[in-house]
Amino acid sequence: MNQDNKISAVYPGSFDPVTNGHVYIAERAASIFDELTVSILYNEHKSATFSVQERIEMAREALKHLKNVKIDCFEGLLVDYMKHVGSRVIIRGLRAMSDFEYEFQIALMNRQLAPELETFFIVTDPKYSYVSSSGVREVFHFGGTVQGLVPDCVFKKLSERFNIKN
Ligand code: ADP
Repeated sequence: MNQDNKISAVYPGSFDPVTNGHVYIAERAASIFDELTVSILYNEHKSATFSVQERIEMAREALKHLKNVKIDCFEGLLVDYMKHVGSRVIIRGLRAMSDFEYEFQIALMNRQLAPELETFFIVTDPKYSYVSSSGVREVFHFGGTVQGLVPDCVFKKLSERFNIKN
Protein backbone atom coordinates (compact mmCIF):
# COMPACT_ATOMS: atom_id res chain seq x y z
CA MET A 1 0.00 0.00 0.00
CA ASN A 2 1.39 3.47 -0.77
CA GLN A 3 0.64 6.76 1.02
CA ASP A 4 -2.81 7.09 -0.66
CA ASN A 5 -3.84 3.61 0.55
CA LYS A 6 -3.56 2.40 -3.01
CA ILE A 7 -2.11 -1.01 -3.70
CA SER A 8 0.49 -0.87 -6.41
CA ALA A 9 2.10 -3.75 -8.25
CA VAL A 10 5.08 -4.13 -10.54
CA TYR A 11 5.18 -6.39 -13.61
CA PRO A 12 8.89 -6.78 -14.41
CA GLY A 13 10.38 -8.46 -17.46
CA SER A 14 12.48 -8.16 -20.57
CA PHE A 15 9.54 -7.37 -22.91
CA ASP A 16 11.81 -7.75 -25.96
CA PRO A 17 9.29 -7.04 -27.45
CA VAL A 18 5.97 -6.88 -25.60
CA THR A 19 3.53 -9.56 -26.87
CA ASN A 20 -0.22 -10.00 -26.56
CA GLY A 21 0.55 -12.51 -23.80
CA HIS A 22 2.19 -9.73 -21.79
CA VAL A 23 -0.72 -7.39 -22.58
CA TYR A 24 -3.17 -10.00 -21.28
CA ILE A 25 -1.29 -10.33 -17.98
CA ALA A 26 -1.04 -6.53 -17.62
CA GLU A 27 -4.79 -6.15 -18.28
CA ARG A 28 -5.69 -8.68 -15.61
CA ALA A 29 -3.25 -7.24 -13.07
CA ALA A 30 -4.47 -3.70 -13.78
CA SER A 31 -8.05 -4.81 -13.09
CA ILE A 32 -7.08 -6.02 -9.60
CA PHE A 33 -4.46 -3.55 -8.38
CA ASP A 34 -4.92 0.22 -8.15
CA GLU A 35 -1.69 0.95 -9.97
CA LEU A 36 0.52 -1.21 -12.13
CA THR A 37 4.03 -0.43 -13.29
CA VAL A 38 5.31 -2.50 -16.18
CA SER A 39 9.04 -2.27 -15.72
CA ILE A 40 11.57 -3.24 -18.33
CA LEU A 41 14.76 -4.84 -17.11
CA TYR A 42 17.89 -3.39 -18.56
CA ASN A 43 20.63 -5.99 -18.45
CA GLU A 44 23.87 -5.00 -20.11
CA HIS A 45 25.09 -8.63 -20.01
CA LYS A 46 22.10 -9.94 -21.96
CA SER A 47 21.91 -8.98 -25.61
CA ALA A 48 18.50 -7.69 -26.62
CA THR A 49 16.90 -7.16 -30.03
CA PHE A 50 15.33 -3.84 -29.05
CA SER A 51 16.86 -1.08 -26.93
CA VAL A 52 15.24 -0.27 -23.61
CA GLN A 53 13.91 2.96 -25.13
CA GLU A 54 12.28 1.04 -28.01
CA ARG A 55 10.83 -1.52 -25.61
CA ILE A 56 9.44 1.28 -23.45
CA GLU A 57 7.83 2.98 -26.45
CA MET A 58 6.21 -0.25 -27.68
CA ALA A 59 4.92 -1.13 -24.20
CA ARG A 60 3.58 2.41 -23.75
CA GLU A 61 1.66 2.21 -27.02
CA ALA A 62 0.42 -1.35 -26.41
CA LEU A 63 -0.86 -0.56 -22.93
CA LYS A 64 -2.15 2.98 -23.42
CA HIS A 65 -5.76 1.77 -23.01
CA LEU A 66 -5.00 0.92 -19.36
CA LYS A 67 -5.21 4.19 -17.47
CA ASN A 68 -3.68 2.89 -14.22
CA VAL A 69 -0.61 1.45 -15.92
CA LYS A 70 2.72 3.17 -16.36
CA ILE A 71 5.92 2.02 -17.99
CA ASP A 72 9.33 2.24 -16.38
CA CYS A 73 12.71 0.52 -16.56
CA PHE A 74 15.28 -0.66 -14.05
CA GLU A 75 18.63 -2.32 -13.76
CA GLY A 76 20.11 -4.40 -10.99
CA LEU A 77 18.11 -6.34 -8.44
CA LEU A 78 14.33 -6.32 -8.66
CA VAL A 79 14.06 -6.22 -4.85
CA ASP A 80 16.01 -2.96 -4.77
CA TYR A 81 13.78 -1.50 -7.46
CA MET A 82 10.66 -2.59 -5.53
CA LYS A 83 11.93 -0.69 -2.47
CA HIS A 84 12.74 2.29 -4.64
CA VAL A 85 9.19 2.51 -6.05
CA GLY A 86 7.53 1.53 -2.77
CA SER A 87 5.62 -1.51 -4.02
CA ARG A 88 5.35 -4.95 -2.38
CA VAL A 89 3.68 -6.89 -5.16
CA ILE A 90 5.50 -8.55 -8.06
CA ILE A 91 3.38 -9.79 -10.97
CA ARG A 92 4.57 -12.64 -13.16
CA GLY A 93 2.80 -14.58 -15.89
CA LEU A 94 2.57 -18.35 -16.18
CA ARG A 95 2.23 -20.16 -19.48
CA ALA A 96 3.17 -23.75 -18.67
CA MET A 97 4.77 -25.96 -16.06
CA SER A 98 8.15 -25.08 -17.52
CA ASP A 99 7.55 -21.43 -16.57
CA PHE A 100 6.53 -22.50 -13.10
CA GLU A 101 9.86 -24.09 -12.18
CA TYR A 102 11.81 -21.04 -13.27
CA GLU A 103 9.38 -18.56 -11.75
CA PHE A 104 9.18 -20.51 -8.47
CA GLN A 105 12.95 -20.34 -8.09
CA ILE A 106 13.03 -16.59 -8.74
CA ALA A 107 10.12 -15.97 -6.36
CA LEU A 108 11.89 -17.88 -3.58
CA MET A 109 15.14 -16.05 -4.22
CA ASN A 110 13.33 -12.73 -4.06
CA ARG A 111 11.64 -13.80 -0.82
CA GLN A 112 15.02 -14.68 0.64
CA LEU A 113 16.28 -11.22 -0.31
CA ALA A 114 13.14 -9.28 0.67
CA PRO A 115 10.56 -11.29 2.73
CA GLU A 116 8.08 -8.41 2.69
CA LEU A 117 7.54 -8.77 -1.06
CA GLU A 118 4.87 -11.04 -2.52
CA THR A 119 4.92 -12.59 -5.99
CA PHE A 120 1.53 -12.97 -7.65
CA PHE A 121 1.21 -15.35 -10.58
CA ILE A 122 -1.39 -14.80 -13.26
CA VAL A 123 -2.18 -17.66 -15.61
CA THR A 124 -2.21 -16.81 -19.29
CA ASP A 125 -5.05 -17.20 -21.73
CA PRO A 126 -4.59 -20.59 -23.47
CA LYS A 127 -4.39 -18.78 -26.81
CA TYR A 128 -1.14 -17.15 -25.66
CA SER A 129 0.32 -20.16 -23.89
CA TYR A 130 2.91 -20.72 -26.63
CA VAL A 131 3.73 -17.04 -27.21
CA SER A 132 7.12 -15.72 -26.16
CA SER A 133 9.13 -12.69 -27.24
CA SER A 134 11.94 -14.89 -28.53
CA GLY A 135 9.48 -17.10 -30.47
CA VAL A 136 7.85 -14.05 -32.04
CA ARG A 137 11.22 -12.61 -33.09
CA GLU A 138 12.33 -15.89 -34.62
CA VAL A 139 9.09 -16.64 -36.49
CA PHE A 140 8.98 -13.11 -37.84
CA HIS A 141 12.63 -13.17 -38.86
CA PHE A 142 12.08 -16.30 -40.95
CA GLY A 143 8.97 -14.95 -42.63
CA GLY A 144 6.20 -16.49 -40.52
CA THR A 145 3.15 -14.57 -39.45
CA VAL A 146 2.87 -13.21 -35.93
CA GLN A 147 -0.35 -11.29 -36.50
CA GLY A 148 -2.65 -11.67 -33.53
CA LEU A 149 0.27 -12.51 -31.26
CA VAL A 150 1.70 -9.01 -30.90
CA PRO A 151 0.22 -5.51 -30.70
CA ASP A 152 0.11 -3.57 -34.00
CA CYS A 153 2.89 -1.21 -32.95
CA VAL A 154 5.18 -4.21 -32.32
CA PHE A 155 4.30 -5.71 -35.69
CA LYS A 156 5.29 -2.41 -37.32
CA LYS A 157 8.53 -2.22 -35.39
CA LEU A 158 9.43 -5.83 -36.25
CA SER A 159 8.87 -5.05 -39.95
CA GLU A 160 11.24 -2.09 -39.71
CA ARG A 161 13.86 -3.96 -37.70
CA PHE A 162 13.99 -7.02 -39.94
CA ASN A 163 13.17 -5.00 -43.06
CA ILE A 164 10.47 -7.45 -44.14
CA LYS A 165 6.72 -7.44 -44.51
CA ASN A 166 5.20 -10.76 -43.47
P1 ADP B 1 11.80 -12.41 -18.42
O1 ADP B 1 13.11 -12.33 -19.12
O2 ADP B 1 11.79 -11.69 -17.09
O3 ADP B 1 11.21 -13.79 -18.32
P2 ADP B 1 9.72 -11.85 -20.35
O4 ADP B 1 9.41 -10.56 -21.03
O5 ADP B 1 10.06 -13.02 -21.20
O6 ADP B 1 10.84 -11.50 -19.31
O7 ADP B 1 8.48 -12.28 -19.44
C1 ADP B 1 8.02 -11.45 -18.40
C2 ADP B 1 6.93 -12.19 -17.66
O8 ADP B 1 5.80 -12.37 -18.52
C3 ADP B 1 7.30 -13.60 -17.17
O9 ADP B 1 6.65 -13.84 -15.95
C4 ADP B 1 6.75 -14.50 -18.24
O10 ADP B 1 6.45 -15.79 -17.73
C5 ADP B 1 5.48 -13.74 -18.61
N1 ADP B 1 5.05 -14.04 -19.96
C6 ADP B 1 5.75 -14.02 -21.10
N2 ADP B 1 5.00 -14.37 -22.17
C7 ADP B 1 3.77 -14.64 -21.67
C8 ADP B 1 2.53 -15.09 -22.25
N3 ADP B 1 2.42 -15.40 -23.54
N4 ADP B 1 1.48 -15.26 -21.42
C9 ADP B 1 1.60 -14.99 -20.11
N5 ADP B 1 2.71 -14.59 -19.49
C10 ADP B 1 3.79 -14.41 -20.27
